[in-house]
Amino acid sequence: MNIPFNKPYMSGKELSYIAESHLNGRLAGDGPFTKNCHAWLEAETGAHKALLTHSCTAALEMAALLLDLGPGDEVIMPSYTFVSTANAFVLRGAIPVFVDIRPDTLNIDENLIEAAITSKTKAVVPVHYAGVGCEMDQIVDIARRHGLMVIEDAAQAILSKYRGKPLGSFGQLGCLSFHETKNIISGEGGALLINDSAFALRSEIIREKGTNRSQFFRGQVDKYTWCDIGSSYLPGELTAAFLWAQMEAADMITRRRLDLWNCYHKAFEQMEKSGVVRRPIVPTDCTHNAHMYYLLLPDLTTRTYFIERMKKKGIGTVFHYVPLHRSTGGERFSRAHGELPYTENLSDRLVRLPMWVGLEDEIDYVIENATSILNDI
Ligand SMILES: *Cc1c(COP(=O)(O)O)cnc(C)c1O
Repeated sequence: MNIPFNKPYMSGKELSYIAESHLNGRLAGDGPFTKNCHAWLEAETGAHKALLTHSCTAALEMAALLLDLGPGDEVIMPSYTFVSTANAFVLRGAIPVFVDIRPDTLNIDENLIEAAITSKTKAVVPVHYAGVGCEMDQIVDIARRHGLMVIEDAAQAILSKYRGKPLGSFGQLGCLSFHETKNIISGEGGALLINDSAFALRSEIIREKGTNRSQFFRGQVDKYTWCDIGSSYLPGELTAAFLWAQMEAADMITRRRLDLWNCYHKAFEQMEKSGVVRRPIVPTDCTHNAHMYYLLLPDLTTRTYFIERMKKKGIGTVFHYVPLHRSTGGERFSRAHGELPYTENLSDRLVRLPMWVGLEDEIDYVIENATSILNDI
């Protein structure tokens, strides 16, 4: 048996759409497939404007540029997240300020944000871990009261909702990922959701090397020239063609992932009752997208043992994240506000199980082995 932790799903139309771009001789960015993807994202999220990027990392970098963040500015975020959440702001000279996570969802603890605000604070970056929404009502309210921007790291959260509203649509800006390990993919890929129309024009300019090329193509200006700082954040049409095939299948992908998630969840119910594991918790306000199925094990030793034993059975399981405040980069570029006990404890205990469309045939094998290994500990 060899059951990988992740296996990219293909709808079957990816190559024919790529062939279509090739046939059209239209390979640079912002062609017909990119426009389809933008329209789909705007319809699904309600964003004022959606722009494809090379990655969620690139979308976060664009957000930091749009906010005009500079040296010494502070951005509040969880330490339990992927490197890019912090790095995008560090590139502008800003300082990530970490607060602890909630023990139930592993999302930023909204009750800790206010105490971390200083005169330098410019933004809050909630990360919707595992596609389960942060407490956005409170976060948006805190930000409004303190004049802060909200940038959602919705890398894992495509098609998830909080109180019926799509994740990525609460902040002024939202960032999505289409990396091969996410639900909907283009290898590397991402998108910036612009919810506050005040950022719409400048976001196009920053994405197009600091030029007003997009306005020029719409016939809104008669010259196309350098207007602002910027870089090349737009993917080519081949990537967008691949992604469009995935977007067409997005509802089916989400449904099938949810079936797998529910299957795991039911299978480990008894084990949670007997105190061996803790299962993911999804608050009733959240509709999630089954991005991830994880278990919390008693401690680091047990987790190491579990991953080893699963590997011997041919099953790939992984852990993450090394808390950013404990990493080399984090020590150089950021600071923690207070102690982060849940971040430190839970990051040692979390293990992710295989989760990919097509796992239906093998999920019983994963569950049987996980159960028998956990019964041994
Ligand atoms: C995957 C991920 C990213 C980075 O996405 P890329 O598209 O690979 O740049 C950022 N933040 C979180 C929370 C992620 O899970």
